[in-house]
Amino acid sequence: MIRYAEVALNVSFEEETLTYEIPDNMKNLQIGMRVEIPLRGRKNEGIVIDIHRIMPNHPTKEIIRQVDKRAVVNKEQIELAKWMSETYLSTLGEGLYKMIPSGRKNKSIDFISSIANEKLLDLNSEQSKAFQEIQSKLGSESIHLLYGITGSGKTEVYIHLIKEVLTNSDKSVIFLVPEISLTVQTFARLENVFKNQVAILHSTLKVSERFSSYISLLDGKKRIAVGTRSAIFAPVKNLGLIIIDEEHDHSYKEHSTPRYHTRQIALQRCRINQASLILGSATPSIEVFYQAKVGKIHLHKLTKRAKTSLLPKIIIHHKKDNSELLGDELLHAIKDRLSKKEQVILLLNRRGHSPLIYLREEKKFLECPNCTTHLCFHSRGKAICHLCGYKESISSIEKKYSNDLEYIGSGTQKLEEYLLEKFKNAVVERLDQDSATKKEIFFEVIGKLLEGKINILTGTQMIAKGLDASMVTLVGVINANTGLGVPDFRSNERVYSLLTQVAGRAGRADLKGEVIIETTNTDHPVIQLAKDQNYEKFFQFEIQFRKDAYYPPYCRLVRFVVRSKLEEKSKFSIEEIKKEIDLFLLKNTNQKIIVLGPAECPFYKIDSNYRNHIVLKTLNLTILKNFIREKIKPLKFHKSVYLEIDFDPMDLL
Ligand code: ADP
Ligand code: ZN
Repeated sequence: MIRYAEVALNVSFEEETLTYEIPDNMKNLQIGMRVEIPLRGRKNEGIVIDIHRIMPNHPTKEIIRQVDKRAVVNKEQIELAKWMSETYLSTLGEGLYKMIPSGRKNKSIDFISSIANEKLLDLNSEQSKAFQEIQSKLGSESIHLLYGITGSGKTEVYIHLIKEVLTNSDKSVIFLVPEISLTVQTFARLENVFKNQVAILHSTLKVSERFSSYISLLDGKKRIAVGTRSAIFAPVKNLGLIIIDEEHDHSYKEHSTPRYHTRQIALQRCRINQASLILGSATPSIEVFYQAKVGKIHLHKLTKRAKTSLLPKIIIHHKKDNSELLGDELLHAIKDRLSKKEQVILLLNRRGHSPLIYLREEKKFLECPNCTTHLCFHSRGKAICHLCGYKESISSIEKKYSNDLEYIGSGTQKLEEYLLEKFKNAVVERLDQDSATKKEIFFEVIGKLLEGKINILTGTQMIAKGLDASMVTLVGVINANTGLGVPDFRSNERVYSLLTQVAGRAGRADLKGEVIIETTNTDHPVIQLAKDQNYEKFFQFEIQFRKDAYYPPYCRLVRFVVRSKLEEKSKFSIEEIKKEIDLFLLKNTNQKIIVLGPAECPFYKIDSNYRNHIVLKTLNLTILKNFIREKIKPLKFHKSVYLEIDFDPMDLL
């Protein structure tokens, strides 16, 4: 009798899987292996998720080739992909392909070996309390928020709990951090304590190395997985504990189908495995803190720094629009630190040299030809679009506009030039997307900072996270108001957490830290709340706004974004969706659903695609999901049109 394989492909079909015949020479084909299959006259790859002998009622083709000698996904992952397809309305294959290492990176890099403790530190009383409370819940499904101020020693609590899981059970651990740079730090710290138990999963490894890391978890040879977002799918054996550090970070949301949030996957895996989840942050996401407040998540607080009793002092300075790049107070403070051989971090959350190029003759700012945004002036004579990457040389722009250009505003490159000019003897380094084009550079610079070889480190938000450099005593934030004008319901949360995170880099050890925030609007509530360094006060402010404006956690959001290079097709398609929504609402008048739009997205054009959106606010996602599955997914649009459906979007831009 012929055997058949159900194969899941990494595409958005209506069918979940396609059926293929298994040729006689593939006797050892197993569920979880990848295969090459013919599809519409082409070779394609898919993952076998079932093997059976039920003849389908349509003609079938044979599998061409078996890609793997062993299964690369396990049963739990297949179950999880099924759950994802119901939750995010994606296909099984789209879910499964998020789980296995992919990409084409073929060069691996060496990391700085961090100066980490070999042993566990003794926990202080707050840490012990949190540890004991969480420990008592290990072995059953439980969700915890470890809300601890910057430098309070959250990592040490995690490590003690991991030790508990590893020594007193046969379970495994997944440890997630928001950035690759932090994976390396975390890996070094964990590997020191748990020798040969830690597998690192991230995209700067060669695919082959990533695969062997991945397989070591699948086989249970290693019991701790460390990585960024996608490591939430790590195929560990017998999952007991998941840690999501800096849980508020936006990198935990995936930006292509299925658009999952790491926290949601973590919750589901904890449900399946009776495991514990720890969410850690100094500035928890509003949703998570709300859940903790209403008692759905266990809340554990660390209110003191581990190594010092002092939090940095925060000073706000008013900055006039056209004044010098740095104010006198900040300049003075930098001079003072340099003379004491202490280190300075300066955050300016704008890459490039000058964000705007003014065309004097035309009396307007230069825009990207492909996007609704301005071109930014970058050093070495380039104008660059930060949305699509479009580049044009300044000389060619000058030819077009009769040399009459003016550069307005400041980015990190200008700041770096300015600092080099002002502090001739200082070692100044800059970290942003343009300088750290390779991760090697990032690690090199961070390494130099930790070794005390840098006096001033400047950069974008890249420098705000996780750095534990004991000689940094001054943090300056330039143009802190950047980001507050963004028309998005999460902009307050984002700015507050960035300011808190970067402020948290100052004075982490014996030396007292100081933070100087320069901004044009000193009165903005978020700036004032950041000054107070009182997250709970910020939460009270923000939750009221969310309630009044009816935003999460008071509702769930679903966002439809239609994009097309043809403007009218984009407009037409979003109207088609609107029609279906209107029909649905007529039939379901009992549902409290609020429809925003259709409207042009705030970034209307990106990479020559015209983007229109509709946002739904609802209390009952299940009914909406059924409607989307039955009425929206089957809609046939013009071939230039792409529809993104995003549940619980992180921004509406
Ligand atoms: P967080 O992640 O909460 O910002 P970290 O875990 O980075 O804080 O800890 C901050 C610093 O305090 C680190 O240098 C860490 O080694 C140190 N530390 C943590 N716990 C203790 C402790 N119990 N005793 C001494 N030092 C500690
Ligand atoms: Zn562009």
